[in-house]
Amino acid sequence: EAKRAGGARHALFDPAMRERAQKRGGMEAELRQALLHRGLHVQYQPIVGLQQEGDDAGGIPAVGAEALVRWHHPAKGSIPPPEFIGIAEECGLIGALGEFVLETACADFMEWQQRLGPNAPGLLAVNLSRAQLADAGLVQRVQQILRSTGMAPGALQLEITESLAAQDDVVQSRLRDLKALGIKLALDDFGTGYSSLSCLHMLPVDTVKIDRSFVCQADISPHHRVLIEATVRVAHSLSMNTVAEGVETPAQAAVIRELQCDKGQGYLYSRPLGNHQFMAWIEERLQSRCAA
Ligand code: C2E
Ligand code: MG
Ligand code: MG
Ligand code: MG
Repeated sequence: EAKRAGGARHALFDPAMRERAQKRGGMEAELRQALLHRGLHVQYQPIVGLQQEGDDAGGIPAVGAEALVRWHHPAKGSIPPPEFIGIAEECGLIGALGEFVLETACADFMEWQQRLGPNAPGLLAVNLSRAQLADAGLVQRVQQILRSTGMAPGALQLEITESLAAQDDVVQSRLRDLKALGIKLALDDFGTGYSSLSCLHMLPVDTVKIDRSFVCQADISPHHRVLIEATVRVAHSLSMNTVAEGVETPAQAAVIRELQCDKGQGYLYSRPLGNHQFMAWIEERLQSRCAA
């Protein structure tokens, strides 16, 4: 008995575990600091329309942009969002983080309208995590940010992943409350979860984002091509539109366009950019279109 207890205690102080816990605790404190002291930033990745005239390099304008949070750690450099979103959820910082991203992105979106007028992207996509969606105050907070920034609800698209949207009553009713505000919903990373095309009709989403793992194979794998084609067909039959994520090459762009995908997003068009860089990118692209 004593030996078992001793063993358990020993496991509790397993050096590798302790190191992990310390690292996490350290990250928590640092993330808190970053939130308080302007250590987080928001970047924007253009989303381009595919079913219109123009070529990938110039021509086609951005119809929207996705806001992506960035944490530049003073010592470790830039930390990928999947590494700190989970921490923010566990230590109760996700509400503040999500609010920061939404507020910043909506304000920047309004700046695009002011600076770029009719050439400004008309849609702003912002990601929602599991804990944000579980928060009963979410809908009111979104509404309040729309009011304070003056942004039209129809220009905001909140992105959720398949696993989040799946058969959960609380989530379903939250999604309907969000829709009632007049905002748009997108199903992110489609194809990576367990739900399938046959479940799409049950979700109150306007847009399906086809995951990068399919798009990156679009030009080389007939199997992935068929899956993309089927997704686009079903989405369209439900009056949803489609975005291909992670388009990196002209060959991939050609395939998704041929498969009638509505929009594309990926390094081929642009990496995520800071607000000023993003506006410059739009202007540059506009000039190359006029010159062409
Ligand atoms: P996501 O929403 O699917 O965002 C797309 C991710 O793919 C971004 O990674 C983007 O930089 C990356 N990406 C875009 N084009 C390409 C490409 O052509 N090739 C490759 N290899 N990657 C590409 P990022 O910014 O690291 O974000 C990763 C995930 O973290 C996001 O996936 C989203 O789930 C989450 N995330 C990011 N920002 C936020 C946020 O503000 N709030 C929440 N809750 N989650 C966020
Ligand atoms: Mg997303
Ligand atoms: Mg995605
Ligand atoms: Mg993704």
